[in-house]
Amino acid sequence: MDPIYLDHAATTPVRQEVLEAMLPFLGARFGNPSSSHRWGREARVALDEARERVANCLGAHPDEIVFTSCGTEGDNLAVLGAWRAQREQGRRALATTPIEHKAVLAAAEQAWSEGAERRMLPVSCDGLVEIDEFTGIVDDAVGVCSVMWINNEIGVVQPVPEMAAHARSQGVVFHTDAVQAFGKVEIDVRSLPVHLLAISGHKIGAPKGVGALFVRRGTPMQPLFYGGSQDRGRRPGTENVAFAVGLATAAELTLAERERECARLTTLRERLEEAILARLPDAVIHGRGARRAPHIINVSVPGCDAESLLMALDLRGVAASSGSACQSGAVGASHVLSALGVSGEEMSSALRLSLGCLTTEEHVTRVAELLPALAHKARGTAAVS
Ligand code: PLP
Repeated sequence: MDPIYLDHAATTPVRQEVLEAMLPFLGARFGNPSSSHRWGREARVALDEARERVANCLGAHPDEIVFTSCGTEGDNLAVLGAWRAQREQGRRALATTPIEHKAVLAAAEQAWSEGAERRMLPVSCDGLVEIDEFTGIVDDAVGVCSVMWINNEIGVVQPVPEMAAHARSQGVVFHTDAVQAFGKVEIDVRSLPVHLLAISGHKIGAPKGVGALFVRRGTPMQPLFYGGSQDRGRRPGTENVAFAVGLATAAELTLAERERECARLTTLRERLEEAILARLPDAVIHGRGARRAPHIINVSVPGCDAESLLMALDLRGVAASSGSACQSGAVGASHVLSALGVSGEEMSSALRLSLGCLTTEEHVTRVAELLPALAHKARGTAAVS
């Protein structure tokens, strides 16, 4: 039986079309886009086209796209770069949520250590930031507010358009980490009043090591790196043409398939959740009361140890991840589940199953039987048929 990959929120395979689009720029078309000779001009054209294609996928202008090395860099540039610029205007507060990816949380910690006023937006037990609380906390003393669109551990979708509209009314620079959201929700910055929005290539079929940050024209921003004038000085360094082309290709393909793929994944996710709950009635699906992404299930199986379950699944060819695995791959309490008020026992038994391009109906059928069977075995209880 073929192995089953249920870890698409961690990363996705590079698409064949993406690889083929990139290869010429790793070979004969190797020029530096800043060179004025023919090799350089050829690379410049490819880079400009890639920028325009990524911009089109977001509804942005090409000069509003900064290519980055990953989602983490985009989040850091957004949070720290914008906050340092806002600080100079006297807006010292930085608001975010406790369930952000570490790429945002650690950047916020850095800003707080540089003198930012700390404003943490509370989340409900389903992981949702209530808009009423948001409007009370995000006022005109806030320089930057960062809220992720889709949470990478539990899949909860935040009301980003409403938040961004309120932030704009207060003159607050609003950033959203859309690393898990691109291709899962509609994103069009012509109607979405965000200032900053980060995406990452390896979640959508491009290689690891490339991303983009949308920076709305006029957004105050200090660079994180110093050097040449590439990317209008916002991100100096010789541009990675091949990876920019790969990102543009992956983004276009993802958008072309978005509606069909989201419907397919939602059906599969719901089927898997229902089967797990039918066979393990005490299992808890986190974030269930909120709107959730099509591709992420975070389930606690009380009485089981998540790491042991993951190992047992792995031995049977199923790759998933632990709700408590931190981004470095080390195991620790999940800061996301902890912010939701999840108990220690539920936290230590939390698994994340994330669906994507490799997931088939047959995979879901197999995991729907295997996971409850392994859980019952671990607990020494009889399976519910
Ligand atoms: N933000 C979210 C929501 C993520 O899921 C991830 C990666 O898992 C990142 C940021 C970081 O992206 P990258 O791995 O490209 O640095």
